[in-house]
Amino acid sequence: MRQILVAGNWKLNGSRDSIKQLISGITAGAGDTGNAQIAVCPPFVYIPLVAELLAGSKVAWGSQDISDQDSGAFTGEVAGAMLNDFDCKYAIVGHSERRSLYAEDDAFTARKFAAARKTGLVPILCVGETLEEREQGVTEDVVARQLDAVIDLEGIAAIGDAVIAYEPVWAIGTGKTASPQQAQDVHAFIRGKLAGLDQAVADKVQILYGGSVKGANAAELFAMADIDGGLIGGASLDAGDFLSICKAGA
Ligand code: PEP
Repeated sequence: MRQILVAGNWKLNGSRDSIKQLISGITAGAGDTGNAQIAVCPPFVYIPLVAELLAGSKVAWGSQDISDQDSGAFTGEVAGAMLNDFDCKYAIVGHSERRSLYAEDDAFTARKFAAARKTGLVPILCVGETLEEREQGVTEDVVARQLDAVIDLEGIAAIGDAVIAYEPVWAIGTGKTASPQQAQDVHAFIRGKLAGLDQAVADKVQILYGGSVKGANAAELFAMADIDGGLIGGASLDAGDFLSICKAGA
C-alpha cells in the first residue's frame, strides 16, 4: 500500500515573515493529517530557515531544482551536497516551468535526477504534456519520452528511489484540473510502462498528480487507484488550503 504524499512547490514566492507564518500554520495542523506524508519546497535561500522551523515535525522539505554539477565554476547553481547540509529530503527536477522557461530538456533533467540520487535526495521527477500535445493525441508519447530519458541514464531501479509527478502543463496555475479519470489514465499508463520493465518498481513508486489541486478536488483525485498524492503550487501558499489537501490524503 503506497502512502499519499502531498508536496508544496512554493515557486518564486515568500518572504522571511510570510514563510514563518505559513510554516507555523502548517505545523499547527499537520497532526490532523493521519498517514499522509507532507513536504514543502521553498526557494533555495529560505531552505535553512524552513529546516530550522520544521526540524522535529512530520513535514519534510526539499528544493525546487538542483544543479547537475557537484561543484566548481557554475555561477548561480546549488548542488545536492549543499542541499544535504540543510537536510533536504526531496529535489524537484524537470518542472514544466524549468523545461519551458529555462529550456531544460529531457537529457539535462535526467542529469539533475542523477545528481539528486547521487547525493541521497529523492528526486521528484515532473512529466506532462502541453495542451497542444494533448490535442494532438501524443500525451503518452511525451510522458514516455520524458521517463525514458531518466531510465536510459539511470536505469529502471532508480525510479524506485524517486517520486514521479504527472503535471499536465495546461492544468498548472490555470485553475483547470484534469478530471480524476483523465489523470488516472495517464498515471495508469506510467505505472504500466514501469511495470513492463520492473513490476516491483512500478508497485512501489509514488506517482503524484499536479495541476490546480485544491481542498475541493483533492479527495476525488487521491481516491484513484494510481494517484498517490499531489504536487501543489498555488494552494501550498496558504496553510489552510494546503492542510485541507493533506487531510484529503489522511
Ligand atoms: C505546479 O506548479 O507544480 C503546480 C501544480 O501548480 P498549481 O497547483 O498552482 O497548478
